[in-house]
Amino acid sequence: MTCMPNGPKSVFGAERLAKSTALGLYLHIPFCRSKCLYCDFCSFPHPKEDVMEAYVLALCRDLEARAKDCAEYTVDTVYFGGGTPSLLPPRLLLRVLETVFRCYRVAKDAEITLECNPATASRDAFVSLRRGGFNRLSIGLQSTQDGELRALGRIHTFADFTRTFGDARAAGFENVSADLMSGIPLQTVESYLQSIERLITLAPEHISAYGLIVEEGTPFHRMRDRLAIPDEEAAREMYFRGIEMLRAHGYAQYEISNFARPGYESRHNLKYWDCNEYLGFGVAAYSDFGGDRFGNSRDFEAYLRGESIECERETPTLDVRMNEYVMLRMRLCAGISSADFATRFGRSFEALFGCRMTPYERHGLIRRSGDTTAFTPEGFYLSNAVLSELLDFSDGISNTETEKNS
Ligand code: SF4
Repeated sequence: MTCMPNGPKSVFGAERLAKSTALGLYLHIPFCRSKCLYCDFCSFPHPKEDVMEAYVLALCRDLEARAKDCAEYTVDTVYFGGGTPSLLPPRLLLRVLETVFRCYRVAKDAEITLECNPATASRDAFVSLRRGGFNRLSIGLQSTQDGELRALGRIHTFADFTRTFGDARAAGFENVSADLMSGIPLQTVESYLQSIERLITLAPEHISAYGLIVEEGTPFHRMRDRLAIPDEEAAREMYFRGIEMLRAHGYAQYEISNFARPGYESRHNLKYWDCNEYLGFGVAAYSDFGGDRFGNSRDFEAYLRGESIECERETPTLDVRMNEYVMLRMRLCAGISSADFATRFGRSFEALFGCRMTPYERHGLIRRSGDTTAFTPEGFYLSNAVLSELLDFSDGISNTETEKNS
């Protein structure tokens, strides 16, 4: 990966008006014990420790090389995602984090997250990681029903999750998130709601609740005609009743699929939805930095050899940036503030998007009050379809382009 040639420049070239010097770092750790049947993330099964060590050395080299372009920035979020980062021995994870601390200015209260899967880290490992600076865990649960976990090809049980969760708490992690999934083969509305109920009993600070997407190239895609996936009516009931249950237990929805107790929203993921700058390191990692968007290929061997694996780079136009901002900000319950839009782009949100919003407002999918435009609950449920109708991506950007590290 090449470095940015100069220091931070305007995010939108000459037209960028407001500038922030906060930066998120994403570190991609592409190892898993085995491959889940629905997964199209960049991850390789059965890693050996010497391979993991070589990858960590490459990551540290990459972090060191790019630090000079970030002298004006303060890192306020660091996110180790994957894959299963918790498969790395703590000494390797801490080597990467120490490189971040040594080479970048890191805010005292930075959010430092480790993604992990049940039964991939011991209590002792969590203690080392907590002492070394990690302060947030995001644990992949997906379901509390062991039959559903098997159907997904997950290799852990709910009991594994409760043990891992307890170990994390005992090690001092006070900010823990858990992922749930709806639309799993064999799942019913009742079993989904029971998963939420059981998870709430453990009281994590944050819950992500995503719907299963059958991605091309995965075993699920090849099996798609035979998968007993809940139908549309059940999916709808899961979505709305799930939100209701989470809300009733103090988890406020702040994004289409994300819920948190007050003050525990994911600061790193909010950078993606708020179109702020981040740098991604490692295979398949994406960045939005200095006005450019660029991404790495999945070429693991080349990355270990220290070669550049940058496979795409673009400098989005102002039009693309504005469309993208609308697309991503509308994922948030807070929606779009016309004043913020004007500060950011020097253009009127009303003039550019007001008329396009009106039909959806009439159908009860979008609400506009005062300065704010946001989806209604029904609009959230139909947001993919609404946004693809509403926005113009004729400059070639895809709807998922900026969510690669999410
Ligand atoms: S644990 Fe996560 S990254 Fe790994 S194979 Fe399963 S879904 Fe993919």
